Amino acid sequence: MSMKRRDETGASRPLGRSRLAPSPTGAQHVGNARTFLIAWLDARCDGLEVVLRIEDLDTPRTKAWANDQILEDLIWLGLDWDVQVPNASQRENRYREILDLLRRQEQIYPCTCSRSEIEQSASAPHENSLDGVVYPGTCRERTSVDAQQLDEQGARYAWRFRFASGPRAWCDALYGEQSLEPARQLGDFVVARNYGPSAYQLAVVVDDHDQGITRVVRGSDLIFSTYRQLDLYRALGWDPPQMLHVPLVVGPDGKRLAKRHGDTRLSTLREQKVAPEKLVGYLAWSLGWLERPRPISPKELLSKLGDNPDWRSRLPRSPWVFRECDLFSS
Ligand code: GLU
Repeated sequence: MSMKRRDETGASRPLGRSRLAPSPTGAQHVGNARTFLIAWLDARCDGLEVVLRIEDLDTPRTKAWANDQILEDLIWLGLDWDVQVPNASQRENRYREILDLLRRQEQIYPCTCSRSEIEQSASAPHENSLDGVVYPGTCRERTSVDAQQLDEQGARYAWRFRFASGPRAWCDALYGEQSLEPARQLGDFVVARNYGPSAYQLAVVVDDHDQGITRVVRGSDLIFSTYRQLDLYRALGWDPPQMLHVPLVVGPDGKRLAKRHGDTRLSTLREQKVAPEKLVGYLAWSLGWLERPRPISPKELLSKLGDNPDWRSRLPRSPWVFRECDLFSS
């Protein structure tokens, strides 16, 4: 049960909103479960409403079957939510509305560069190290008038957000003060294409804003995207949510958990009759909440952590190495 605050009329209101925002691009695995568990506990500890939003924009990687499986996975894990909002793919008109606003403000420009053109021009190795290739700014001087011409020619292009120069700083609830110069170190980024759906960076900001999200808990691979999203919030005059990034789960080779590390899909664990409490207990142990892995439910964890309000600041900051056999033998 989420805690509620009573407003002046006596009606109860939640203290804010957090969200679970899985992408149905494949099966959810142990790494996703760990992030969901932290996000859910964080929200429930603070009496925030939990919103479930399926981010199904990434065509053609989005899989129809993965939608229902996400719900099964969450229910199996013992994580609940208060409201499920429409999938991102159903909100394209709203994203286009905001895109239009950004276009009128000349915050975005049409870019016709292909992926290989971008990769070739960004040749300096340091430019590739932070979060993908830094866009070299080839089309940066274009305006929305150029877009009209491109439309008339029937050309395909991406809308890129133009980062203003200078440093940006923000504070992550776990990793603390973050700062860099996005225009130089990240480069202008794609918010939509004139063919196909809007991009994640735009959709996530519009959705989090429209859905009243006040807290975002997600994997640390999105720390750099936060700079992009914060500049979008700023351009739109919206307040951003509080950000809490959590460390990723990696395989024994130090790379982000993937198929090559074995089958860690939650659906497989279910089929193999692994009890969800066993996985949750294992994750809780990996997060330093239990001295050794033992079966426990998210609800039991909630009461355990509820007595210990600074559990968030004590979360581990480095990635957790997952060894499949550990789970089956624990
Ligand atoms: N949909 C993204 C994912 O599943 C999460 C995006 C976000 O939390 O902002 O990795």
